[in-house]
Amino acid sequence: MYSDFISHTFATLLILLLYSCKVAVGQTGDIEDEELLCRRCGHKVTSAEHLYSNKSPLALSHRNDTILGHDDTLIQLFQNAHENRFELITVKQADVYRHGVAVYDASWFPSYAWRITVCPRCGQHLGWSFEKGTEDHHSKKYVFYGLILADLLHKDCRFHNFNCIAYVLNHAM
Ligand SMILES: [Zn+2]
Repeated sequence: MYSDFISHTFATLLILLLYSCKVAVGQTGDIEDEELLCRRCGHKVTSAEHLYSNKSPLALSHRNDTILGHDDTLIQLFQNAHENRFELITVKQADVYRHGVAVYDASWFPSYAWRITVCPRCGQHLGWSFEKGTEDHHSKKYVFYGLILADLLHKDCRFHNFNCIAYVLNHAM
């Protein structure tokens, strides 16, 4: 009897998890609705519609992989002055806090100044902004973001993957 109860409870929990995943991506399951979250706190950082490829000549290497259903998402490997390496994706918009003043020194994207970006909710380092232009009223500043892939959680529930279940366990239950 006890084992039956455990099996029934597990099955119910699994159904709830899968239903939660379905709700999380919306009824249409539209790829553009899918999101990348701060791995530390679950804050929504960006979504599939903002992914774009901006290849840098200063990347150590690059590859393409599927991110949020986009098959050809460019992922580039960079190394900083401390020999730390980061795999970055580039996006046009991100909900991050840009820290300090933008500088051109050692920029991974020539002609762009950079700033460190952190999660506005938990302060986790999530990558860098890359900025061009001036901040006066007559010139629209151009900004894109390089986000550290390893610091993001893929909220891609269509495949009912481990990350999705982990997200639901952490935030919905
Ligand atoms: Zn966070």
